[in-house]
Amino acid sequence: MVPFTQPRTDIHKPALTKREDMIQNLAASEQVFTSNVFLVTGERTVLVDVGNDFDVVSKVRAEADGLDAVVLTHTHPDHVGNLAAVVDAFDVDVWGYDTDVDGVDHELDENDTVALGDSDYEVLHTPGHKNDHVCLYSEGEGVLFAGDLIFANGGFGRTDLEEGDRGLLIESIERVQQAVDEDLAAMHTGHGPSITTNPYTDVELALRAAKMGA
Ligand SMILES: [Zn+2]
Repeated sequence: MVPFTQPRTDIHKPALTKREDMIQNLAASEQVFTSNVFLVTGERTVLVDVGNDFDVVSKVRAEADGLDAVVLTHTHPDHVGNLAAVVDAFDVDVWGYDTDVDGVDHELDENDTVALGDSDYEVLHTPGHKNDHVCLYSEGEGVLFAGDLIFANGGFGRTDLEEGDRGLLIESIERVQQAVDEDLAAMHTGHGPSITTNPYTDVELALRAAKMGA
């Protein structure tokens, strides 16, 4: 039987992609010494950090046609170990705060704007965990890439490594707290799960925790 009317599936189709779907953590299932690796797809497909010790190239190929750029939150080994493999495979340039670091081609300076996916992100230089650490914030999307500065539930970046400085870290978290809107929608951190429920609260918690015993 031919139905009298075709179901109008075109009318109430959900939006093509939810915004969050354009940001995927390619390291989510990895059990190795690696940071998270965020693939941001769209107009400019970018990898935020490249991770370490797993085949991130295959994972990018499974999700995207290629890469337009790599952006680094900072250059600790767990965030950049896969850099040569990624640059080789996709012939991309690399953006980071400090071009004196091997493999960083272009400078991301305080208040620069960098395009990730379909949106512009503001660069916030946020030392304290490492001197070349940046966070990336899109006011329009309500998205923050926090690197290893802020983690979920009051977690914050360690400061016992070279270039670590708790006072600077606290200033950097304060800086981020002032920069982001209270209705921040998502915070993607360098380790652990992304936070999509009231991430601003996690920023405040991290600040309070970092100040304790500082
Ligand atoms: Zn780190």
